[in-house]
Amino acid sequence: MTSSTDRSAPLVVRTPHELRRALADAGRTALVPTMGALHGGHQSLMRIARERADTVVVSIFVNPLQFGPNEDFDRYPRDLEGDTARCAQEGVDVVFAPETETMYPAGRPMVTIEAGEMGERLEGTSRPGHFTGVLTVVGKLFHLVRPDLAVFGEKDAQQIALIRRMVADLDFPVEIVGAPILRDPDGLASSSRNVYLSAAERTAALALSRSLEAARSAAGRGAAAARTAAAAVLEEAAGGEPPVEPDYLALIDPSTFAEVADDHRGDAVLALAARVGTTRLIDNTSIRF
Ligand code: AMP
Repeated sequence: MTSSTDRSAPLVVRTPHELRRALADAGRTALVPTMGALHGGHQSLMRIARERADTVVVSIFVNPLQFGPNEDFDRYPRDLEGDTARCAQEGVDVVFAPETETMYPAGRPMVTIEAGEMGERLEGTSRPGHFTGVLTVVGKLFHLVRPDLAVFGEKDAQQIALIRRMVADLDFPVEIVGAPILRDPDGLASSSRNVYLSAAERTAALALSRSLEAARSAAGRGAAAARTAAAAVLEEAAGGEPPVEPDYLALIDPSTFAEVADDHRGDAVLALAARVGTTRLIDNTSIRF
């Protein structure tokens, strides 16, 4: 395979058969699963993968199974050419970009991977079935690519927690590596969905990262104070123009995603989701009490 110093274009493969051929002598293999519309956040994952493996595979697949009926599957940004160029910048060896029919030849699979109780909280409440779709496609990608390690972003905190549980509970032979949240210079967490935001919506959306910052500043006074500080920022933004409509704000135990008590000691994650215009955004931060 190409070495880590070679920045030539990656090999783009569309089928499991082509993928297996491309990975014949792959050595230690890292997978970075994505839905494309790649940005700096995805590239930071690729860099972590590049440092740890002989061969880096980026999968690009907008997975219909993880979108609800009224979500943005149809309008989700798609740009394989631009994505391949970003992969080339990071020395990615193989881009696996299957068609929906290749991943799901018989339509929706009859057998899926259920996330259980932890998958029904927060994102799972707002997006029923979302994590079944995520775990099912990640399980399939693990079987197709057979990576030694896979890199996921902490931006999707509940997703990476559930993938870690899936790997532990179902004995997938893969190491899961977490990557810190990459933010744009204004503080907004980088996201493929940020392209949906108008200039005014983007300014309003900064309330999400400000809310997390407020919680971190109040953390010395305990969990309840941190929660209240974050909620105050979101409340103000809810009355702004355009309004930021909060979906959830939760201070949770990272191993269960259940709310922590007001007098909690130790690690917690403050996770939030909000809608600005038609765009749904999520963000989170770790806080130690
Ligand atoms: P997506 O294409 O949105 O499904 O994301 C693919 C992977 O990139 C997931 O593991 C995400 O958590 C990760 N990711 C997306 N945005 C960021 C970000 N701003 N910082 C770090 N990781 C990210």
